[in-house]
Amino acid sequence: MSIDLNSKIATQVAAIPRSGIRDFFELVQGRDDVISLGVGEPDFSAPWHIREAAIYSLEQGETSYTSNLGLLSLRKSISKYVTRQFDVTYDPEKEVLVTVGVSEALDLACRALLNPGDEVIYHEPCYVSYSPSIIMAYGKAVAIQTKVEDEFILKAEDVAAAITDKTRVIMLNFPTNPTGAVEPIEELEKIAKLAIEHDLIVISDEIYSELTYTGDDGMSRIDHISIASLPDMRERTILLHGFSKAYAMTGFRLGYACAPNILTEAMMKIHQYSMLCAPIMSQKAAIEALENGDAEMENMRKAYAQRRNLLLKRFKEMGVPCFSPGGAFYAFPDIRKFGLSSHDFAMKLLEEESVAVVPGTAFGKAGEGCVRACYATAYDKLEIALDRIEAFVGRL
Ligand code: PLP
Repeated sequence: MSIDLNSKIATQVAAIPRSGIRDFFELVQGRDDVISLGVGEPDFSAPWHIREAAIYSLEQGETSYTSNLGLLSLRKSISKYVTRQFDVTYDPEKEVLVTVGVSEALDLACRALLNPGDEVIYHEPCYVSYSPSIIMAYGKAVAIQTKVEDEFILKAEDVAAAITDKTRVIMLNFPTNPTGAVEPIEELEKIAKLAIEHDLIVISDEIYSELTYTGDDGMSRIDHISIASLPDMRERTILLHGFSKAYAMTGFRLGYACAPNILTEAMMKIHQYSMLCAPIMSQKAAIEALENGDAEMENMRKAYAQRRNLLLKRFKEMGVPCFSPGGAFYAFPDIRKFGLSSHDFAMKLLEEESVAVVPGTAFGKAGEGCVRACYATAYDKLEIALDRIEAFVGRL
């Protein structure tokens, strides 16, 4: 008798869907004609001096484990940087945990905080791993549907309406993947008040916090405000950040969590048994990024700003409504007027013009009616992709 392996898979794992992005990109693989505005990954390589730090670490024979929390020298650099970037200070000895990307940090935070059935409020459309991370920690994912009409900001009144006696955590991501939304300070303050009033923990994923755009020409950087820096919020916030986006270091797999010691300690217990530590050469590269990486980060941000401007201008010219995203490297144009679902729009665009965008529904049902176009793609390729999109929508 053959074994029924499906019946051997744990219930909560069987219940989570595969990432909609992955499914879509399997279709694109091996097709050289396709211009991809799909994967949310910088087209830049990590700056050379950062790569050199990793090479030097290997040359020095640094091939060992590190402390579970991460190298103290890295944690000190993180603490200094976080004070500068987020205006909130953490003790590098016991309030900073180095992780294998923000992905691992999200998983650790959920597993450290949730008892079975505890509710986590988060905003959709959102990064694909939020609901699975909550479900794999036996929590209940409670999505608030943000709207294109509100430029995908999260309204505190909607958070208030979603809070029940089972709510334990509010999970935030600003600037947001996939919409590029930036939360106005007034709403952030109201959400902080709710967290305090209802004694909730906030997990704040701020991985795009350096990539912000403002000013008439969209070229200036907005001062990012972390909810952790608002009054009385440091004690109830887990601040997550990493190196993948702003430093173009996705393959180094490095992130970190900053929080009061009781919280980082709980997360560290899971990390030490599941991951042990982040790779030492990546940690060495990260120190170099934090200590000497500002200039190149700003050059990349300016390149994204130019591409964002190009996208917004061309979408406007071709009559595709698209709000002006304040951060990250995504545009989330509204394609409802073409009468196709976001899935069908993306499939047809791929088939007919060989341009890959991601259906908004890959990020939750609130994404229906929109597609995600990632502009971490070279300017000249973006121009060709936009010509093709123009031809496509012209026929619809
Ligand atoms: N959080 C958000 C909002 C993201 O968009 C991503 C990657 O796309 C991640 C976390 C994962 O980042 P990392 O590469 O640090 O695991």
